[in-house]
Amino acid sequence: MPKVKGTHLEWHTLSEWAVLIEHYMVHYNFSKHSKSRMLALAGSLRFEEIHTSYDIKGLRRIDPILKKASRFKSEGGNGIERHLKKQYIVKMLVETRSRITVLQLPRLGYKIKNPRFHMPSIPDDVLDGLIQRHPDMKLVEKLRTESKRRQDSSINTPPPYKYMRTFVLDWSDERRLGNGIIISLNKGYAFQPSECELAALHVMGFDTVREASDEIKTGVHKCSCQWCMS
Ligand SMILES: [Zn+2]
Repeated sequence: MPKVKGTHLEWHTLSEWAVLIEHYMVHYNFSKHSKSRMLALAGSLRFEEIHTSYDIKGLRRIDPILKKASRFKSEGGNGIERHLKKQYIVKMLVETRSRITVLQLPRLGYKIKNPRFHMPSIPDDVLDGLIQRHPDMKLVEKLRTESKRRQDSSINTPPPYKYMRTFVLDWSDERRLGNGIIISLNKGYAFQPSECELAALHVMGFDTVREASDEIKTGVHKCSCQWCMS
């Protein structure tokens, strides 16, 4: 890790660099020794170090130093601005902030790294497969939440159209389970009416909402079986 050339100083993290800078700014006395030490310290932080850093704490720590230095005229202060070109300081400041921004993104990380993981558009079977096999447990947790959301919103919900409520007791979209849309009718109605409860058809499955809706519009009849009359 960077030993500061020509000094006995050494630092390993951006925070340590910041501490050294601040310390020697306080003790800056414009002597030759002070100047050469600050010059060496200032020069020991390379742009690459910032550019490749994952140390968000350290980046936040050096930000105010760079910011302050970027505002001084080159001969004005007693810090790194005395020894580095303003352009270079600004370049490091901009990079520091851009790194901080990038490192703050992991909350949305899956969207950036895996744009195909737009949750609502993952097909059911793919969703289930990912839950079984994906190594990223954080992502799996999100997938599970999505899976649960789908189950909760698909089973035993009211029918999608108001007019159906007269006839429909239970609208259960179980297509994700491979069952289709299962519709149970209110008492007094049947898809196939009969005097006999066992012969009457009160429950039916459909592949699509359109099919179900067509059947409810045209294929539902009054029923007077024992169950309907009870
Ligand atoms: Zn009936």
